[in-house]
Amino acid sequence: MRDDAALVLFSGGQDSATCLAWALDRFAHVETLGFDYGQRHRVELDVRDAFRAAVPSARLGPDHLLRLDALGAISDTALTREAEIAMGAEGLPNTFVPGRNIVFLTFAAALAYRRGLKHIVAGMCETDYSGYPDCRDDTIKALQVALNLGMERRFVLHTPLMWLTKGDTWRLAETLGGRALVDAVVEHTHTCYLGDRTHRHPWGYGCGTCPACDLRARGWQDFVSERL
Ligand code: ZN
Repeated sequence: MRDDAALVLFSGGQDSATCLAWALDRFAHVETLGFDYGQRHRVELDVRDAFRAAVPSARLGPDHLLRLDALGAISDTALTREAEIAMGAEGLPNTFVPGRNIVFLTFAAALAYRRGLKHIVAGMCETDYSGYPDCRDDTIKALQVALNLGMERRFVLHTPLMWLTKGDTWRLAETLGGRALVDAVVEHTHTCYLGDRTHRHPWGYGCGTCPACDLRARGWQDFVSERL
């Protein structure tokens, strides 16, 4: 088990890309993990290689891509079906994929176990979030305890974005890698729920109207407003 090595949950979105940069700044060896669960915005998986290439580092190790078809098969959500994004009866948007982050972190720990990586880094965030209960700090902390007990390991789950706003996330990218990293996030990450890469905005590609685009655009506005 390497104390100085990390596995980053890297979906190809803005948050996980910033987490990858954060991990490369902090750990001597960093591997990445993505999941294909039949998400509508599957295009996010295609930008992963481009972002990895945009942050060249001797610390960057192999990439892993796991298929989780079963998660897509049992989920009836606007992220895994052609459905209008809307608020559900329980006050959660229908983009919530039940169990997703719990499943992701469990598979990440199983992979980290085999690869001998002590640290697991993920982009969950309680601030500005969509109300997803599996993004909560308490969920992640409880899961860390469960994984460590269940696998007899001492994994450390890091969520560097947990208390940041989306504007703060852009600022973190700038702190870590300057304008070049901000440009790489704009150009080579994907956040739009609809998988739209035909419209280019100052903050990157997307439909411009879905909740994920809206959040990303508002964070960007917050970030650039300080510069005017
Ligand atoms: Zn969008």
